[in-house]
Amino acid sequence: MPQAPDEPQVFEIGDEVTGEFRCAECDLLVKSPDESDGVLVLPACPLCHSEKWRRAGA
Ligand SMILES: [Zn+2]
Repeated sequence: MPQAPDEPQVFEIGDEVTGEFRCAECDLLVKSPDESDGVLVLPACPLCHSEKWRRAGA
């Protein structure tokens, strides 16, 4: 999967992440849970069914 190192990293469904992420298509925001280990397994976007996510701005 070619990806230039200076491009923003794209995450896909099934990736285990922490923090806040936005849908690459519709900008829907999802957050990892505060409880337990705080890991979120990225779903398909509930709005547009995109499988791509970007890390939300810090
Ligand atoms: Zn979406």
